[in-house]
Amino acid sequence: MTSPASSDTIKPSNFLRQIIERDLKDGAVTRVVTRFPPEPNGYLHIGHAKSICLNFGLARDYGGVCHLRFDDTNPEKESQEFVDAIIDAVHWLGFDWQEADKSHLYLASDYFATMHQAAVLLIEAGLAYVDEQTPDEMRANRGDFGKAGVDSPFRSRTVAENIVRFAEMKDGKLADGSAVLRAKIDMAHANINMRDPALYRIRRATHHHTGDAWCIYPMYTFAHPIEDAIEGISHSICTLEFEDQRPFYDWLLARLAESGLFKNPLPHQYEFARLNLSYVVTSKRKLAQLVADKHVSGWDDPRMPTIVGLRRRGYTPEALQLFCERIGVTKADSWIDYSTLEGCLRETLDAAAPRAMAVLDPIKLTITNFPADHVEPCSAPVHPHHEELGKRNFGFSKELWIDASDFQAEPEKGYHRLYVGNKVRLKYGYVVECTGFKTDASGKVTEVEATYFEDSKSGSATSGNYKVKGVMTWVSAHDAVDAEVRMYDRLFTDEHPDAGGKDFLASINPNSLKVVTAKVEPSLAASTADQKFQFERHGYFCADRVNHATGKLVFNYSVGLKDSWGK
Ligand code: ATP
Ligand code: MG
Repeated sequence: MTSPASSDTIKPSNFLRQIIERDLKDGAVTRVVTRFPPEPNGYLHIGHAKSICLNFGLARDYGGVCHLRFDDTNPEKESQEFVDAIIDAVHWLGFDWQEADKSHLYLASDYFATMHQAAVLLIEAGLAYVDEQTPDEMRANRGDFGKAGVDSPFRSRTVAENIVRFAEMKDGKLADGSAVLRAKIDMAHANINMRDPALYRIRRATHHHTGDAWCIYPMYTFAHPIEDAIEGISHSICTLEFEDQRPFYDWLLARLAESGLFKNPLPHQYEFARLNLSYVVTSKRKLAQLVADKHVSGWDDPRMPTIVGLRRRGYTPEALQLFCERIGVTKADSWIDYSTLEGCLRETLDAAAPRAMAVLDPIKLTITNFPADHVEPCSAPVHPHHEELGKRNFGFSKELWIDASDFQAEPEKGYHRLYVGNKVRLKYGYVVECTGFKTDASGKVTEVEATYFEDSKSGSATSGNYKVKGVMTWVSAHDAVDAEVRMYDRLFTDEHPDAGGKDFLASINPNSLKVVTAKVEPSLAASTADQKFQFERHGYFCADRVNHATGKLVFNYSVGLKDSWGK
C-alpha cells in the first residue's frame, strides 16, 4: 500500500499499538490486517477520517495491509454513488488498498453465499432457529437489564424443521418481516446482545450490487464477524458502541471455527472512542437530513463535516492526517474542540499557501497627490519564507480599494489605521496620510482621501524614514479583480448540537454563510481550482473547486489567522 508523507515520523503510542506489538511479538498474529468498513449509505465525514487514518495508519506502520470493505448488507439505503464517493474520499486522504497486483477492495455482499452457508451450519449444529414471533412479541420477550428474556415458542423447533423454514425464507415463500433466523444462545444472558440475536431477516429489496438475487439479508452483527474472518482480519477495530457486541462476535466465530468454516487464528475486535467534534454532527443520517432539507447546498457544502465538504472548504489530506494523529485514540468518549481541527489546517497551510491581498469589504481610497495617469509597479513575495516561489506583481495608482474597517471617522482608542491626520503604510506600497473622507446622505463613508509620500516606497532606500504604527493591505482599482468570497461560520450554534438526543436542527446557525464581492489582487485571476491562499490579514481561503470549473472566481473562507493583526 502507498503511504502518506508522514509515515517516517515517530507516532505516539496508544493502546491499539500496544496490542498489535504484543500480538506480533508473541506470534498470535503474523501480519497486521485491518479494515475500514463503511456502509455505502452516505458520504464519509470527519469521524470516518479518524477511523481511516487509524486503520490504514496501523497497517502501514506495522507492515501490514488495510482493506477497504463496503459493508453493504442493508440494501435499502445503499447506492453506487456512495460507493464511488467513499473510494474517492479514502484515496484523497492519501490511502490505498492496492498491494502489488492485489486489490484489497471488498464488498460484503460478495460474501452473501458464505454468510448463508454459515447460517445453515449454525442451524445444523442446533445453534440457530427460525422465529416467527411478531416483532412486538420478540421485543417483549427479550427482557431488559433487570429481567431475563422468555424463550420463543419457536425455539424448540427441530433442526430439520429449521432447515426447511430457513430455505423457505431464502426462497421467498415467507412475507417480509414474518420470520427471522436467530442464534440460539441464552435468553437469560446478562448481555442482552446474547439473548438469541437475529441473524437474518426477510426483505424484498433490490441490492445495488446483488440485485434481486436475495430476499433475505444478514444482520450487521452476524455479517461483520464473518466478513472479518473471510478476509483474515487480525485486528477488527470499531467504535465503543460495539463493545457489548464483542461476546457475540467471539461466540459466532468460535462456533463457525468448530464447524470447520473458519480456521484459527480468528479475528479479534477492539473498540476505541468515536470522534465527537464540538459544533459538528457526525452521523450520516443527520448529515443526509441537512442535505435533503436544503440547510446546505449538498454533501460537499463547505460547511459540512464531510470529507468532500472539508476538501471544498480548503482542508488538505495533510491537515486531516495531522488532526487524526493529534487527537490520538482512547477508550473514553470525549469531545474534541473544533479549534483543534482548525489549528491543524492553519499549521499545514501556513508553510505552503501563497499570499495575496484581498479587500473583502471595499471602499475607495483616493491618493489625491498621485498622478492620475501613473501606475507604479509594486511587488511582494509569494511566500515570505520561500523566496524561491518568486514575486507577485501589482500596481499602485491614484485609486485604491481598502477595507471599510481600515478607516474610522472618529478613531477609537489605540486605532492605528486610517483617520484624518494619521499616517499608515500601505503594505508593499507607500506611506500615506489621511486627509479627508466623503459620506453619503446617510453618513456612511463612501470614499477616503489621502496623500502619499513619494520617497516612502517599500523596499526603497528612504522607506525607513517613515515610522508608522499601522500597516494596511489594499488593492489598486486599475488592476484589482472582482471575486465572490464566501465567508463561512460554524453550522451550529450549540457546542454539542445533537448530544443527549437534542434536536440538532434547532441550533442551526442562520448566519453560517455570508457572501461578499471582494476586490482581489490580479495574481488571483490565475488561481487554479482548490488552490489555497493566505489573504494577508484575513486568513486562509481556497479557490472553490466547483465554481472554478465554470470560470467564476470564487473563494471559500477556510480558517482565520492565528494571531489577529494588531489594531
Ligand atoms: P454514521 O452513524 O455516521 O452512519 P457509521 O458508524 O454507521 O456512522 P459506517 O459507514 O458504518 O458509519 O462507518 C464505517 C467506520 O467508520 C466504522 O468502523 C465506524 O466505527 C467508523 N466511524 C464512524 N463514525 C465515526 C466517528 N465519529 N469516529 C470514529 N470512527 C467512526
Ligand atoms: Mg454503520
